Amino acid sequence: MSELEITEQTQIKRGRKRGSYNRQLIYNIIDEALVSYIGMVVKGRPFVMPTSHWRDGDKIYWHGGSKSRMVAGAENQPVCLTLALLDGLVMARSAFHHSVNYRSVMIFGTPEKIVDEAEKARQLEIFIDRVAPNRWKELRPMQSKELTATGILSMPINEASAKLRAAPPADDEQDYNWPVWAGVLPLKRIWGEAEPCPRMTGDWEAPNPPAP
Ligand SMILES: Cc1cc2nc3c(=O)[nH]c(=O)nc-3n(C[C@H](O)[C@H](O)[C@H](O)COP(=O)(O)OP(=O)(O)OC[C@H]3O[C@@H](n4cnc5c(N)ncnc54)[C@H](O)[C@@H]3O)c2cc1C
Repeated sequence: MSELEITEQTQIKRGRKRGSYNRQLIYNIIDEALVSYIGMVVKGRPFVMPTSHWRDGDKIYWHGGSKSRMVAGAENQPVCLTLALLDGLVMARSAFHHSVNYRSVMIFGTPEKIVDEAEKARQLEIFIDRVAPNRWKELRPMQSKELTATGILSMPINEASAKLRAAPPADDEQDYNWPVWAGVLPLKRIWGEAEPCPRMTGDWEAPNPPAP
């Protein structure tokens, strides 16, 4: 898959060797992350809101109350969406060289609101099925008033960068003999056992969660 064009905004200045503009790599990180942060300026002040996102082709989406700041406030405004996966703690021989292994993405763009009701429903189906495949079809169908109350924004993934660290500590040469443990403490994410709703009226099987 193609490489994204580097812009003034996405030019990585610090730690360039960790940067990537590979579209597929960026998509893989977006698809694995379940939480993202929408950053924008509201009335002259920075405002960063955590949310969940999904991807459909070359666009990233998020949703919320149709009048919420994250949706109505971000529509047609410059936005920076950030997401990160923490893969490990990097324990060096000096405090200065401690670090983290990670994969992160930043996307710049101007989101647009989806107005077509059928497209809104299609996107919500993609969102639900991303966390539990085929769940949409098992659910009570979406009502028109629920669709109206839900705002969905989409943003093209054209101006974006990824940054990755996957390496042991990088200490100063003279420190490698320092008598302390050094290395990486990898972080593994696992789902716990499903907790059925106390009001469930049947013996239904729990959905499989996405890869953590
Ligand atoms: C979990 C986590 C913990 C981190 N902890 C630290 C820390 O403690 N100290 C520290 O200095 N850095 C840390 N980083 C790295 C940090 O995100 C920045 O990359 C780094 O600080 C350089 O910042 P800068 O302002 O010089 O970026 P610049 O290089 O000036 O940024 C220019 C452009 O590069 C791209 N870019 C920069 N950083 C990232 C990124 N992380 N992901 C995707 N694109 C990026 C963006 O397009 C950005 O607009 C951490 C990253 C993660 C994911």
